[in-house]
Amino acid sequence: QTYFLSHSLQAKMSRPVQARRLEGIDKNIWVDFGRLAATYSKVNLGQGFPDFPAPDFLTEALTRALGGGSHMLHQYTRPFGHLPLVKVLAQFFEKLLGRDVDPMTNVMVTVGALQALFCCFQAFVDEGDEVIIIEPFFDCYESMVKMAGGTPVFVPLRPNPPKDGKLMSSADWQLDPAELASKFSKRTKAIVLNSPNNPLGKVFSRGELEMIAELCVKHDVLCISDEVYEWLVYDGKQHTRTASLQGMWDRTVTIGSAGKTFSATGWKVGWAVGPDRLLQHLRTVHQNSVYVCATIAQEAVAQGFQRELMLYGKPESYFVQLPQELQQKRDWLVQSLDAVGMKPIIPEGTYYVVADISPFKSDVPDVPNSDEPYDYRFAKWMVKNKGIAAIPLSTFYSEAHKKIYSNFIRFCFAKEEATLKAANDLLEKWKQEKTSS
Ligand code: PMP
Repeated sequence: QTYFLSHSLQAKMSRPVQARRLEGIDKNIWVDFGRLAATYSKVNLGQGFPDFPAPDFLTEALTRALGGGSHMLHQYTRPFGHLPLVKVLAQFFEKLLGRDVDPMTNVMVTVGALQALFCCFQAFVDEGDEVIIIEPFFDCYESMVKMAGGTPVFVPLRPNPPKDGKLMSSADWQLDPAELASKFSKRTKAIVLNSPNNPLGKVFSRGELEMIAELCVKHDVLCISDEVYEWLVYDGKQHTRTASLQGMWDRTVTIGSAGKTFSATGWKVGWAVGPDRLLQHLRTVHQNSVYVCATIAQEAVAQGFQRELMLYGKPESYFVQLPQELQQKRDWLVQSLDAVGMKPIIPEGTYYVVADISPFKSDVPDVPNSDEPYDYRFAKWMVKNKGIAAIPLSTFYSEAHKKIYSNFIRFCFAKEEATLKAANDLLEKWKQEKTSS
């Protein structure tokens, strides 16, 4: 008996433990670059989160819920979304989409937008199904499609050179309609749309979205529409909601995030909005995995939305004020990057700016035939030597295309004025070192 026990305690497992679905998705850029930023950066413009506080009305709502609120706010709530939150989200989306939205069947609350995405891929994608992803893309789309057993099919936004020596705009990156059409086949189950787009900041025009919608209808394809940056649109541009286009409500799941909407990424409250026919399957995934999201965070987010519903379109609205503040921050960072000689691509939306680093090949020489894309090496060098953390753009491309798009890096500008000033000082110092060497 004793022999048996000690023997089994010492015996190591020898069989392979990793499920096949994890093959090829074990590396994660956010983990790697997060570590680098924590070790070396003086200014972290890498991962996408604000370093300024969430609005007072939101944190006060949370404090109220904690203090004077019902003790039941500390218990499980309705699995598919705390009632006050799904009700106000439904009211909001009725306004935005100009159609009836039922809080019980057309809205589901998730652990951030990320879980809403995960539910979609698990709910809709079978082995052998293809999912079209527009490059550059938020990297989890690819791994989530693969985890579900599907095959990602990539189609790139192609940059058109800007006119008369001007800085490029994210609007200069466009789909080739014929190329996109060629990616649709009998195997296509869904397309992932992300407008405003992370990382480029492209806000797809109504015309572009209608072109995509037509293809979805023609080929009877679902649309997973990641609109987490829906309120972060600049220069008077309009965000068009895919689900509002003709023929699209019935085949679209719209995904949003309180993290992005209310500058509170750590709360991890997100949602999916769509027809019951689609959401019923998201509910199946949700009830068999997460089941219920944090009640108290949902309560506070609900109150945030109630305030925003009341102030909709008014100057006091956070959804009006936040983009105004961010546009100013965007302009500062664009100016700082331009001054040091990077060529920033002016984003129409989101809180990221992508910059061309090809003028820096003399500072950080390329290593021919290296496995590592140039932008990875550059971003690592920059954080270690210049103290600024950013994310290489090739992260947002499929393996086959990483090398083609490896001359850009992405900066996040959802930062305090002091942080952006510190970034500017580091860039300015760099510029002086360049001119004196
Ligand atoms: N979609 C996009 C395009 C994102 O950029 C992010 C966050 N960086 C998410 C989804 C995830 O949002 P959340 O933090 O609410 O899960």
